[in-house]
Amino acid sequence: MTDLDPTAAGARVVLVTGAASGIGRATVDLLLARGSRVVAVDLDELAIEGEVVALAGDVADEETNRAAVALAVEAFGRLDGVVLNAGAGGTLPWEDPGAVAAAERIFAVNLHGPMLGIRAAVPALRQAGGGAIVVTASVAGLRADPGTWAYNASKSAVINLVRAAALDYAAAGIRVNAIAPGLTRTRIIEGADPLLAERVPLGRFAEPGEQAEPIGFLLSPAASYITGTTLVVDGGLDAGLG
Ligand code: NAD
Repeated sequence: MTDLDPTAAGARVVLVTGAASGIGRATVDLLLARGSRVVAVDLDELAIEGEVVALAGDVADEETNRAAVALAVEAFGRLDGVVLNAGAGGTLPWEDPGAVAAAERIFAVNLHGPMLGIRAAVPALRQAGGGAIVVTASVAGLRADPGTWAYNASKSAVINLVRAAALDYAAAGIRVNAIAPGLTRTRIIEGADPLLAERVPLGRFAEPGEQAEPIGFLLSPAASYITGTTLVVDGGLDAGLG
């Protein structure tokens, strides 16, 4: 088996970034419940029990990515899957004096983070005979929204990074996919107008676990013929206004 099998008790090792909160935390919980071992990376401290080792660090930093992969191999002997989920965003007035620096930081986390994560993980995934990478993009990468141009551009770019990496690593048995969440009840949308939910065809925000499930699917052998794609998980937002 060259692919990740989160149902194989204790056999599979997955690195998750942005693991302390929201979608990342729900993904860690799902993977642990299915018997995987997890390396959890976040800027914030992660308090969690079980087959998990945590690393505090910034995904925009190459060293964090290298250290996380090294930790997987040191603690669990291998690496089979990677979830590059950490993200940053927000509204950015175009003419704000700090807009360029703020946009560069958004690109550093949302685009360079996955680029560095893929580069760091590939040697260990090759060593394991193949594996799966899932990047958390966004429906914001498939469309534009007022005021969040840097976030939207970074998420568009990461969707194409995923396609490119999928082509480059297919022969190595490494599948690379993205999910594109819609509005999901995490810290990122704290303070969002609850009326926004009425614009979602399914009529509500997603729960973090509803993003973790498709991530788990893309990591699993059930997705063995899926690479280079973006799975939209948005309650119908991308289909049109409800
Ligand atoms: P969240 O704020 O609950 O979780 C994000 C986690 O990433 C936090 O624990 C944060 O500390 C960590 N993080 C942020 N920058 C980091 C960095 N530079 N290095 C390491 N860790 C870092 O938000 P979430 O909604 O769970 O976000 C997860 C991903 O989902 C992000 O990529 C986000 O863009 C994407 N997303 C979220 C929504 C939504 O509506 N919540 C929609 C589309 C996409």
